[in-house]
Amino acid sequence: MDRSFLDWPFFEARHRDFAARLEDWCAANLPVDHADVDAACRDLVARLGAAGWLRVTAGTSSEALDVRTLCIARETLARHDGLADFAFAMQGLGTGAISLFGSRDQREWLTRTCAGKAIAAFALSEPKAGSDVAAIETTARRDGDGYILSGEKTWISNGGIADFYCVFARTGEALGAKGISAFLMPADTPGLAIAERLEVIAPHPLARLAFNDARLPASALIGAAGNGFRIAMAVLDVFRPTVGAAALGFARRALDETLKRASQRNLFGAPMGELQLVQGHIADMALDVDAAALLVYRAAWAKDSGAPRITREAAMAKLYATDRAQAVIDNAVQIHGGDGVRRGHIVESLYREIRALRIYEGASDVQRVIIARQLLRDARTPDAP
Ligand SMILES: Cc1cc2nc3c(=O)[nH]c(=O)nc-3n(C[C@H](O)[C@H](O)[C@H](O)COP(=O)(O)OP(=O)(O)OC[C@H]3O[C@@H](n4cnc5c(N)ncnc54)[C@H](O)[C@@H]3O)c2cc1C
Repeated sequence: MDRSFLDWPFFEARHRDFAARLEDWCAANLPVDHADVDAACRDLVARLGAAGWLRVTAGTSSEALDVRTLCIARETLARHDGLADFAFAMQGLGTGAISLFGSRDQREWLTRTCAGKAIAAFALSEPKAGSDVAAIETTARRDGDGYILSGEKTWISNGGIADFYCVFARTGEALGAKGISAFLMPADTPGLAIAERLEVIAPHPLARLAFNDARLPASALIGAAGNGFRIAMAVLDVFRPTVGAAALGFARRALDETLKRASQRNLFGAPMGELQLVQGHIADMALDVDAAALLVYRAAWAKDSGAPRITREAAMAKLYATDRAQAVIDNAVQIHGGDGVRRGHIVESLYREIRALRIYEGASDVQRVIIARQLLRDARTPDAP
């Protein structure tokens, strides 16, 4: 495994130490059996929490989330086990709004999520509002000293096993994006139902949620009323590069497996790695891995260095790393021949694992739009003297 990237100037000694310790833990504990994904996820959250790895998924009032550490964690976990990366990532995404904007009482949940004793979920998407987040229709109407939520969310990761959901709903301060608020909804809130469990090509807990007049106290509001869209975008700003990091982990594993295969399998009387066309594919894969790593860790470093927003960097990292990981893994499947599509083979599972990353947290074409709009806006804004 190539770890030379850890010597890049983006990192400090604490990052290299974290990477080495997590690598040892992963080698001893992963992969886990995925036969029952709910049970596997609960177990992974508990074990990741007990070992202390989830501490980095929440920020404290004095210490911000370190995006480089989150990226190293996701890259390392994804390389060993996609479900372990999922369990880790959702603890961060599900609590991101609380880390960044939560009240003192809401922050009490962080102690439990970091210990692996509570499972978090992020509930933004709806059947009619995925890419177009500002079109969400779930409402939260004021009722005395609380709110009543009605509507539906879908594609909610950890739906069905989460202990609480960070829910975005329309509170109507203004039309569109400025009339949305964020709420902390415990899973046992009356009126919250798991309407449907959803199955996808790389199974993990996923559900459609229904809110049938689910009542929340005013203290469930995260940040200010009407700020929900801004909160969601701030959370995605932190976690978007980490999706790229997970893709990078899958791609690195695919490259490692390919190098092993090309060295060990003989074709036409010699190791297949001696065929120049195979070498060409390997070179392309390595190039994609390094370029993705540069974009992912550039975005993470920029955020950790105090950039208030990293919209362009995060979008570039997510877009490039996920799209190119798909190509790297496809090459790995090809080089493995029939074994590459055999159920249970590592490259077959990578092929399934990578696909959804190009859709969630902003599909690839949405990232293209974000990058272009940011560049056009910058081009219209005269440079400061
Ligand atoms: C496995 C998985 C896990 C998920 N987990 C969560 C979760 O935990 N919480 C949550 O809130 N959501 C989650 N999602 C939802 C995810 O964020 C949405 O699926 C995603 O935003 C796309 O929305 P959509 O499915 O409604 O597709 P649509 O919005 O209908 O988009 C379909 C396609 O249209 C194209 N497109 C969209 N907009 C543009 C544009 N502006 N320009 C050009 N092309 C465009 C893109 O190719 C896109 O893929 C998850 C989804 C999946 C698949």
